[in-house]
This record gives sequence, structure tokens and C-alpha cells, in this order.
Amino acid sequence: MSGRFEKRGHVGVILVDNPPVNAISLGVRLSILDGLKQAAADADVKAVVIACAGRTFMAGADIAEFKTGPKEPFLPEVVAELDRFGKPLVAAIHGTAFGGGLEIALGCNYRVATRDAKVGLPEVKLGILPGAGGTQRLPRLIGVEKALPVILSGDPILAPKAAELGIIDRIVEGDLLEEAIAFASEKAASGASHPRVSEKTIDRAALPETYFEDMRKQVAKEKRNLFAPQRIVDAVEAAATLPFADGMARERQLFLACAANPQARALQHVFFAERQVAKIPNLPEGVTPRPVRSVAVIGAGTMGGGIAMNFANVGIPVTLLEVSQEGLERGLGVIRRNYERSAARGKLTAAQVEERMGLLRPTLSYDDLKDADLIIEAVFETLEVKKQVFTQLDWVAKPGAILASNTSYLSIDTIASYTPRPQDVLGMHFFSPANVMKLLEIVRGEKTAPDVLATALAVARTIRKVGVVAGNCHGFIGNRMLQGYGREAGLLVLEGASPQQVDKVLYDFGMPMGVLQMGDLAGLDIGYRSRKDQSPDAYEPKAVRIADRLVEMGRCGQKTNGGYYDYEPGDRTPRPSAVTRQVIDEVRAEYGITPREISDQEIIERCFLAMVNIGCEVLREGIAYRASDIDIVYLYGYGFPAYRGGPMFWAENEIGLANALEKIRGYAETVSARWWKPSPLLEQLVADGKGFASLG
Ligand code: NAD
Repeated sequence: MSGRFEKRGHVGVILVDNPPVNAISLGVRLSILDGLKQAAADADVKAVVIACAGRTFMAGADIAEFKTGPKEPFLPEVVAELDRFGKPLVAAIHGTAFGGGLEIALGCNYRVATRDAKVGLPEVKLGILPGAGGTQRLPRLIGVEKALPVILSGDPILAPKAAELGIIDRIVEGDLLEEAIAFASEKAASGASHPRVSEKTIDRAALPETYFEDMRKQVAKEKRNLFAPQRIVDAVEAAATLPFADGMARERQLFLACAANPQARALQHVFFAERQVAKIPNLPEGVTPRPVRSVAVIGAGTMGGGIAMNFANVGIPVTLLEVSQEGLERGLGVIRRNYERSAARGKLTAAQVEERMGLLRPTLSYDDLKDADLIIEAVFETLEVKKQVFTQLDWVAKPGAILASNTSYLSIDTIASYTPRPQDVLGMHFFSPANVMKLLEIVRGEKTAPDVLATALAVARTIRKVGVVAGNCHGFIGNRMLQGYGREAGLLVLEGASPQQVDKVLYDFGMPMGVLQMGDLAGLDIGYRSRKDQSPDAYEPKAVRIADRLVEMGRCGQKTNGGYYDYEPGDRTPRPSAVTRQVIDEVRAEYGITPREISDQEIIERCFLAMVNIGCEVLREGIAYRASDIDIVYLYGYGFPAYRGGPMFWAENEIGLANALEKIRGYAETVSARWWKPSPLLEQLVADGKGFASLG
């Protein structure tokens, strides 16, 4: 058992003790039941408090049981026992009461909490729903319209807000256990009846007639293609329309449907992948990050501005260097507008906007960089400009300062060679918009020192990003794989698909937008210019011929109101373009291609398997440590749908590696032997009947 029962006057205390986070293991469940039994048997016990030792209330399910499956008694039975218990029960919450933790608290008559405690039902993030009565009790306790958003978002709620919602009965300022015991005695002495959450009723008629239908439509839009959120609406509708016991049965059914859905497995993979990604093999033991108290960013353009905001957001001063006063003012203007937009949405106060702007120190002089602990360069993407910058940095940066580049494709080793301190250089590759996207690709150069790598990972955490370490190669993990994705989309249009078909299929698959639309958004001229610097062998010219023609006609994408699509000024809605149609016809004629019907399935297979095949090379070369790291890169850097687990998980679980290899071999015959050459790593895995997990 992981807990004990003790008596404090007339109050029984069930003290759960299962470090580190009081996960609701079998031992915890047994000790709660045991405590209830002792309390029931003792006539002297007038009320019971459930509290936890250590740093938190029960923070959720026992992750170890995810894999083995839980043992009886299951949590819903334990909560049902709490519900049936005849004496007043008080949950005393500190730290976090998430998932099953909150469901246990909802099985009690009352909940008291410390001011900094948090509650929440995060199950939706793992593709399931609260399965121990959460969907039935929370709406009964606080009303359907308040409960449904809490369960759908899965986000933590701070105690004062939870009290406002009606989840918490009292916020405790002093000693939690003492106050909870006093509260329990008070309730027991009052002689009043003690409300059971399960016995509260919901007045369905008080909700708008179309409430649940409207919520389903809203959820379909906001949580596109996701399975669990729709089931959550179903479960809460059951709470509003069925007796409690029937609602519980419905919750169980819906819970099992979610658990059996592949999305749950994919989302749980993401959960574990995110925890795995920070583990860096071969990092010497005891390596400590260097302190980062001040930062400098060079270049205040699209990326530099967003990067600087990340630091200002967490209170770290940032020196922002540009080549001209005009560039500085433009950059600062964009940052201010971003902050003001957040303020208009109520996310920041006017004072916070000024505070953050005040942390930005604009300059035109490299001298002002001399105290920075970390300097991140985000200037134009050419080696020549990077060389200029790093040469100057070496003159001014203090010893031990970390010199990072935000380059998308260029070699970190080449950049490091511009300074006599390559050990201090690495890539810190942010994704656009840099103040929003959660990914930070951290590129280790050949000579990057271990503590520099450790510092970059620590910085990622500080600015609330997910850091993924990558090796040095053209495009690192994400952009290297993206080349296969973009190439196939270009070829598919050439062979007969329309841009609209390609983009719709990718969007329906779950991507935030299709790749051609993404090209229009980023600017088709960016790829065009970068190809001018590459050897023509490095890419498939046919795949970019249409895009090149569009750029040469001045159609660079949204910024010129035309690219693959037409755009009305000031409107980002892509519209099919007659001009592009004609360019496509001309390029097809140029290559003697007769367009054919292309199936949606071929679009999915070619775009994503091309990406996965390169992903296997990225793994084979050690550019990524793990397949799950690649998944994280795609989820947080490119908006790959989390419910598919990432491209590598998708290939392994939705397609199957053997099947994927067979299709890749097929495309090597029908599309291109060069670009579809199967990765030897994939061939090896299939030959051995193994999966990505076998690679460690
Ligand atoms: P940008 O053109 O918007 O901004 C570059 C800024 O750097 C300009 O404001 C320019 O005035 C300034 N600059 C140029 N030379 C300078 C110098 N010597 N000293 C100081 N400032 C100088 O470009 P961007 O899109 O922000 O890209 C910057 C870097 O980030 C590039 O390496 C790019 O590959 C990389 N990157 C871009 C994206 C993206 O989506 N735009 C994403 C990830 C990485």
C-alpha cells in the first residue's frame, strides 16, 4: 500500500504517499479503500480528509500502468466507493490534481486547495477522456457550459480560477492539512447534508436546444479530425440527459472507444517522445549548462524579431543588432505590433507590453554585444554574410559566449570555421513564426562543446520550446526531409494533379495547409534564390520548373498576390489561378507529359513516404538520435498532426514498414530510381522484422 490512515481528533486522514507525484498506482487505490474501511468502521470518525504527502496531490494515472494495463480495483470503482461513503469527505489539494487525481477529488463531497494548486482533466491530450466519472461529475458540479471547455481543452486551471468555476470550495492560505481537517470538522458539526456530486442534477432544458450539435460543429472545426473531443461532447451530453449510472456506463463505452482508436496510441507516443527527446546520448556526466542571463540577436527580420520576443517574454534582456536604423525600426515595429495584438486579445496587459519592449535593446554597433552570454545570428541565408557576422563576433564576444546560427540549411561546421572558437558554435534553428512555433532544432557541429549543447537545451526549456538535437547536414532533420515532401508535390502537379488537389489531400490528412500553399505563404522566391546557390544535382529540376516559371513571371506567392494561387489584396484565401493553370500546361508540354488522373492515396504516399525515406537516412547517418525525435520535429516545427504521431510513427503504424518499403521500391520504378532509392536502414529493419524502437 502507498498510504496510511490516521486519526486527528474526530477526523480520519487518508494520507497517500507514493513519491514522486503520487501517481494513482494499485497501492494508492488500495490504501484509499483501506482508509475508507477503517473510517467507516470507527464511529468516532465523523469526517475524512484525503490528502497527499510530498510535493503534490495525486497528479494522475500511473504511467507504468499505461503499458501493463491496470489491476483491480480500477479507479472508477474507487471513486464510486468515495461517492457511496456515508461521512463527509474532503479532498485537500496541493500541487496538481490532474486526471484521475481530480476525479478522486470529485468523488469527495468537498474540495479545498492551496492558492497555487492546479486542477485539470488532461486526458484529451492523450486521445482519451476522463474515464473515472470526470465527464459525469464535473458537469454536475459546475454546469455543462463551464465543464465541457475544461474537459475539451485538457489545460490546467489554477486554484483561484477553479474556485470561481465552482470546482474548489475553499482556498486555504495556511497549513493545508490543518485547514482541511478544520473544514471537515466544521462540515461534520454543521449537521447539514453533504452534497454528493453524483446526485446533483443537470437541467437539460436550461441549455439551448442545439447546444450539443453546435458544440460538435465547433469541435469539428477547432479540433479537426480528432476522435476523442467528439466523444467528450457525447459523454457530457449523456451527463445532461441520462441518470448518473447510465451516464457512467456511457462514459465507459466512450472511454473504451477512444482507447481503442489509433489516435490514442499516436498521442501517447507523442507524450513519451517528448520526454525522450531531451535525453542526449554521449553527453558526459556532470556537464553543466553555461549561465545565460543576457542574449543578443543579429538581424531583426522575420526570424530575428520573433527570436528576440522569446527571450523578452521570459524576462531576459535582448540586444538586437541591425545594419541600419531603418532595419531596426522596422523590426521593433513588427515586434510591438505583435505584442499589441496579444494585448488586444487580452493575453497581455499594456504594462507587460512595455515591460517586454523595455527588455529589447536596439543597436547598430557590435560593441554592444560584448556582454552577451548567447548570441544568435538570423541574417540573410548566404555563407558570405554569415562569414562577415561570425568574423566580427569573434572580435567582440566575450570568452565563453555561445555563438549560434539560425541558418536553415548552411553547414554549422563551415560557419564555426569562421571563428577560432568552433567549440562555442552551434545551430539554434527556430521555426517561423519564431515566437509561436514550439520547435527549436539544436544543431551540433563537429566541434560543439558538450556544455554548449547542454546550454542550448536548457535555453529551449527556459523559453518554453521543445529542443531537438540534430547533426549537421543540408537542412538538418526537418528541412532535409521537407525537400522530399516538396519535390513529390511538384512532380505530382506536373504529372496531372492540380495544386488544389494536392493541397486539399495534405490538408485533409491533417497538415495545417498544403505544401504548395505553404510555398505561397513563405514566398516561392526563397526556394528559387536558394537553388541558385546549389549545384543543379542537388534537386530535381522538373519538380521546381513550375515554381521557377511562376517566380520569373513575378508570382512569388501571397506577397505579390499570386503564386500557385491567386490572392485578392489583403486576403490570404488561395483561389485557383488561370495563369498558373496555363504555366502548368506549358511545362507539361515542355517535358512531353500527358497528364493522368492521380489518386488521393498516391499523393499521400508520395509526399509522406518520400519524407520518411529521407528520415531513415537521417537516422542511419546519426543526424537524429531517434525516430521519435524526428516525429517531434515534424509535430512542433511543421504542424504534422499529433494524432498521427509524426511521420515515422505514421509510416510504422499506419502503413507498416514492410509495406512502406514495397511502395518506395514501386515508386523507384515508376517515378525515379534516384529519388526513391530505399534507405538501407529501412531495408535492414524490414529484413530483420524490426521497428524503429529497436534502434534505441
Ligand atoms: P529576413 O530577410 O527577414 O531578415 C534578415 C535580417 O538580417 C534583415 O533585417 C537584414 O537587414 C538583417 N541583416 C542582414 N545582414 C546583416 C548583418 N550583417 N548584420 C546585421 N543584420 C543583418 O530573413 P529571415 O527570414 O529572418 O531569415 C534569417 C535567417 O533565418 C536565415 O538564415 C534563414 O535561413 C533562417 N530561417 C528563416 C526562416 C523563415 O521561415 N523565414 C525559418 C528558419 C530559419
